[in-house]
Amino acid sequence: MSATKTTRTSAEREAQAELTKTPPTSVFDLGPGTDSAEIGTQIYELIAELYPICRSITGNGFRKTMSLLQKQIPLTVHEVPTGTQVFDWTVPREWNIRDAYVKNSRGERVIDFQRSNLHVLNYSVPISRKMPLAELKEHLFTLPDRPDWVPYRTSYYKENWGFCLSHNQLQKLPEGEYEVCIDSSLENGSLSYGEYFLAGESTDEILISCHSCHPSLCNDNLSGVSIAALLAKSLAGASRRYSYRFLFIPGTIGSITWLSRNEEAARRIRHGLVLACLGDRGGMSYKRSRRGNAEIDRAVVQVLQHSGNAFAVRDFSPYGYDERQYCSQAFDLAVGCISRTHHGKFPEYHTSEDNLNFVSPASLGDSFSKILAVLGVLEENRVYVNQSPKGEPQLGKRGLYRNIGGHVDAEAREMAMLWVLNQSDGKHSLLDIAERSGIVFDQLQRAARDLEEHGLLKKQT
Ligand code: ZN
Repeated sequence: MSATKTTRTSAEREAQAELTKTPPTSVFDLGPGTDSAEIGTQIYELIAELYPICRSITGNGFRKTMSLLQKQIPLTVHEVPTGTQVFDWTVPREWNIRDAYVKNSRGERVIDFQRSNLHVLNYSVPISRKMPLAELKEHLFTLPDRPDWVPYRTSYYKENWGFCLSHNQLQKLPEGEYEVCIDSSLENGSLSYGEYFLAGESTDEILISCHSCHPSLCNDNLSGVSIAALLAKSLAGASRRYSYRFLFIPGTIGSITWLSRNEEAARRIRHGLVLACLGDRGGMSYKRSRRGNAEIDRAVVQVLQHSGNAFAVRDFSPYGYDERQYCSQAFDLAVGCISRTHHGKFPEYHTSEDNLNFVSPASLGDSFSKILAVLGVLEENRVYVNQSPKGEPQLGKRGLYRNIGGHVDAEAREMAMLWVLNQSDGKHSLLDIAERSGIVFDQLQRAARDLEEHGLLKKQT
């Protein structure tokens, strides 16, 4: 860890102190108590703030993103030097860009990085010279099927330069000589990533990871980044059974780098979610972990099933976001990927149309609430033991049956208690009971709490 530099200002330390002053509440209670519309607006505003920055897998755009997140949470920023071996990969040279353009013969910028950072092939090496259109065209990328949109393209591991533009614009470029300039640098430096650890009662961890390396793209990248930051902020003030680790990393190389430097910490991860594409107007979707039936996989399905909204669940495949690395063979962590519309399944994916109009505060708030509910299930998924297992205990004499005033859902509540009592033999968790009974987890958890208060149930230690 000697190569690690830590960036944390006194303002951030004060912000942390402020967060910990918040009176503790249960993580589970945060769900219903959190106003989804209000949090959705906050997430959207953070996306709007991060949107203009030209990010990449390394460089100052990524660092600036981390420093803006530090206004929300006291994130630690690690710097890993170029050339560091991380499993089978090597931390690449650091890329930075100041300006880029293509000028026509009249000296007008016909393609201009200052108007959109998507116009430059991400990781372009520097260039400054004149060339005819035919030569320039070999370095231009467009989307003929979507002629008004600008694609997002990268060339991280193969040296190249290029520009991205709309197909219509390309077709309007007249023959002639063009001045091409990319004022970038690709030099020894470091790879940055952000990490925020929240200790809980247990050293067992829940991992929340998001790739943070895309430039001006909202759904793919910034929705996950902003939801993760505000989740971290919310959980900081809650009482937590689990410890939480938030990672803001460049895709692929970032998770590989983290895993290679934290093999021991990785073993403490019990559950995890990769957050991506959580702001579009489609329904929720979930990709299971490699294990397929891990507690996280079941907790997500439990929440989505009872949400009343359409959703899709897919099995693991070794393609996608950083779950690929967390679920690589030697780690096989219980990490799934939660999204709204699955990446690559919306035409705006990796184009200029994945912008601030494509994501909505309502969708962002809804995604946030559902993820929080999933964490609530994990926090409260306990195994209990019925303390009166011979026949049903008499609930009426304890005030638990029917004669409870004000409970409109008395019948559902009683059914939940009967299921919890019957199944709590030290072998079945609340999530097992939820799956078998079809009763929403929340209701079973409340029943368990009531029964525990009346001495009829004990948490298994
Ligand atoms: Zn992407």
